[in-house]
Amino acid sequence: MSTTIAFIGLGNMGGPMAINLQKAGFTVSAFDLSADALAKVKAEGVTAAASASEAAKGAQVVISMLPASRHVEGLYLGANGQAGLLAGLAEGALVIDCSTIAPASAKKVAEAAKARGLAMIDAPVSGGVAGATAGTLTFIVGGDAAALERARPMLQAMGKNIFHMGDAGAGQVAKLCNNMALGVIMAVTGEALALGAAHGLDAKALSQMMAVSTGRSWATEVCNPWPGVLENAPASRGYSGGFGNDLMLKDLGLAVEAAMGVGSPIPLGELARNLYALNSQAGRGGLDFSSVVKLLEPKG
Ligand code: NAD
Repeated sequence: MSTTIAFIGLGNMGGPMAINLQKAGFTVSAFDLSADALAKVKAEGVTAAASASEAAKGAQVVISMLPASRHVEGLYLGANGQAGLLAGLAEGALVIDCSTIAPASAKKVAEAAKARGLAMIDAPVSGGVAGATAGTLTFIVGGDAAALERARPMLQAMGKNIFHMGDAGAGQVAKLCNNMALGVIMAVTGEALALGAAHGLDAKALSQMMAVSTGRSWATEVCNPWPGVLENAPASRGYSGGFGNDLMLKDLGLAVEAAMGVGSPIPLGELARNLYALNSQAGRGGLDFSSVVKLLEPKG
């Protein structure tokens, strides 16, 4: 009999992830507060449940893909006088949270799971909606090695790379480190291209040179922030699709919070957080984060 999975949170990422699990032969019962999100996965053969606790009834594994810490804590630990999901899970159940949340929140929920005799890993992802749809996500895992081994077949149905970073919360820390570097690199790449353009250089020629020189990165080669440089980059379609500015802003906020918790200096990370906050205020919160270049490009 195939493993029964409750999947909670069927948004841009969770929807395709739940569908990939179902296609791989797992039995998936899913729930989302949005009826539209639920209908989309139902159309692909996933069972639609009326609540998270109904989805989790008898499930051997619970997977969540929710927006932020408060949603994850609310789901598992309870909120507004309602009991959390952990209280009702079958003995021996495994919990996999794939949301990007504060490391402290991930640890709190993992400790509560442990107190109930349940295994839990934090497994935030990299790869975006395209990776979720293609089943090529990278999973960045924190928690017990034995729990990861139990989770591995399911993670493999949704992704292609799995990194075990350490104990509970370590997956979230590693994810924030990656995204902080990405946020800074994107902003400074935009800054470099804007400086070149202000001196009359062609941004495409500058990008092509940088892409084979020491300034090369994912921001020069794959998601170049300058319109028209790369045909398939969000910048060349009005910054639509891709990884939203406000998601980057959220991750940088979590990085700042995590840095304060251990007294770590992250001067560039903090500066980048402010740049993405300004970009959001300028009305580009829903656009791809590479639109941060709009703050820097030459006027006129
Ligand atoms: P999303 O907003 O598209 O989806 C979140 C879903 O959760 C929504 O459908 C919402 O209705 C549902 N939800 C919220 N509270 C719920 C509850 N209590 N019970 C059931 N459903 C609930 O977000 P997303 O883009 O899918 O991102 C999910 C997580 O993945 C976030 O933590 C995000 O930071 C992370 N992430 C996103 C991307 C990306 O490119 N979108 C990439 C990597 C990581």
